[in-house]
Amino acid sequence: LTVAVLRETAPGERRVALVPEGVRALTDAGARVLVENAAGELAHHPDSSYTEAGAEVVPRETALAQAGILLVLHCPLPTGLRKGQVLIGLLAGADLPALAERGVTAIGLEGLPRKLSRAQSMDALSSQDNVAGYKAVLVAAQVYPRYLPMLITAAGTAPPARVLVLGVGVAGLQAIGTARRLGAVVTAYDIRPETAEEVRSLGASFLELATAIAGSGQGGYARALTAEEEQAQRHELDAHIARHDIVITTARVPGRKPPLLVTEQAVKAMVSGSVVVDLAAGPLGGNVELSEPGVTRVTENGVTVIGAEGLAATVPSAASAAYSRNLLALLRHLLHEGEPRIDLTDEIQAGVVRTHDGRETGA
Ligand code: NAD
Repeated sequence: LTVAVLRETAPGERRVALVPEGVRALTDAGARVLVENAAGELAHHPDSSYTEAGAEVVPRETALAQAGILLVLHCPLPTGLRKGQVLIGLLAGADLPALAERGVTAIGLEGLPRKLSRAQSMDALSSQDNVAGYKAVLVAAQVYPRYLPMLITAAGTAPPARVLVLGVGVAGLQAIGTARRLGAVVTAYDIRPETAEEVRSLGASFLELATAIAGSGQGGYARALTAEEEQAQRHELDAHIARHDIVITTARVPGRKPPLLVTEQAVKAMVSGSVVVDLAAGPLGGNVELSEPGVTRVTENGVTVIGAEGLAATVPSAASAAYSRNLLALLRHLLHEGEPRIDLTDEIQAGVVRTHDGRETGA
């Protein structure tokens, strides 16, 4: 079995799909591992660390030509791939018809049945959201003009920052924990009522809205709210947002546009120096009316609005290490006697295998 790790080419991407520790695990299991030149450089894993771990560092063409399995974060152009290859990565935006036509077996970690306990070690969405939730707090703290913790000094007492986290999934929980560790007073809100307990267990307060929309949907995710429900939610959130110094939003609904939670009006009512970080900002929109992916803007009333995009890539070593472990866990599941065995009746594979045998699987 030959496994290749490609260098990521997306703008701003600094992660690598497999770190040297992962190479060692594969070579110990008898695989040959090819790593494209400089694949891990931006994640602080120089080529020499890969050769020490037992990999061969090669040009991209060699990796593409010789690999049976290709490990990536983002899907490369299908033109470089060939029949029978197994491509494993995050496949958002991938040209699935072209991959199918080329006879590539494309495996997308987004489709993992996350509720299965045996799939948890493979859950790349969670591992990367964890990194993003952590970093969102640091990004906010960086531009926030006051302290996050309460500080008592001879020159007087500084009050702690009031942080509001909207959306308490994986990223939101990590943001709550990080803001608490920095000493902020944290409040959080989600439409899934079951999150209240998790919020409190992290030492934060759960925001109860009078409209109390119960928004639990299928598979542990939120459901999309009706237009009236969204309106009521926004209306009520406005007043709470104005009372906070830092707002971090992470609300998403699978397959839908992220809900709008923070209106322009709400940002106008915040005090100067406040910060809003929209982790949901992306091509479909975000949770904050004024946010734009990858853009930081300061409003006329002095509020910094950050459309956070690709935050996991800005903590590249930690994010790569976690992703690499997710891939190894998935590979252990896929490989039988050293070769990948595609079996669409397997619950995990049925979720992640997107193209196989020349067609799209419909997963
Ligand atoms: P996500 O990224 O889809 O959404 C983030 C959060 O936004 C969710 O908590 C969601 O309820 C919330 N949200 C959506 N619409 C909202 C609105 N209008 N107002 C406020 N909040 C809103 O979620 P995720 O981080 O991928 O996690 C989703 C669920 O999956 C959670 O229950 C999480 O614990 C669970 N999960 C379970 C496992 C596991 O069991 N192994 C692994 C990962 C995630």
